[in-house]
Amino acid sequence: MLRNIPGSGCLSLKQVFPIDALDLTCGAFSSCEPLTVEAKVSRGINSVSVDVVMTGVLQFDCSRCLATHKREFNKSHKFNFEVKPSDLFIDIDQDLREEIMLDLPIKPLCKTGCKGLCAKCGEDLNLGKCKCKK
Ligand SMILES: [Zn+2]
Ligand SMILES: [Zn+2]
Repeated sequence: MLRNIPGSGCLSLKQVFPIDALDLTCGAFSSCEPLTVEAKVSRGINSVSVDVVMTGVLQFDCSRCLATHKREFNKSHKFNFEVKPSDLFIDIDQDLREEIMLDLPIKPLCKTGCKGLCAKCGEDLNLGKCKCKK
């Protein structure tokens, strides 16, 4: 993703990833808006450090009531990569994806204490009691 590593000094860049670029459809989440990644790149002799700030909106189905919800995503992280002096670009897509996945719960909830659906009739118990309950 980083096509140009500066020979020395710092580089600031901002990149907007299309929805599918990071392949975030794995797990319970999918991105519904492009993910914005701002990166500050600085190069050492054999290494490149990249400070990234990722912002976006992710969409998920509540694991209890199955309703679709959106959640804002915001994370900053610092990566360090080893590079050869001849390297002109590094690919950090995979690392970004892993960082994002680390932050996502396996069983997302639309809100804490979501009551979910009735196992018998499938009624959304957040909206009130269903008829099976006395
Ligand atoms: Zn829910
Ligand atoms: Zn019920």
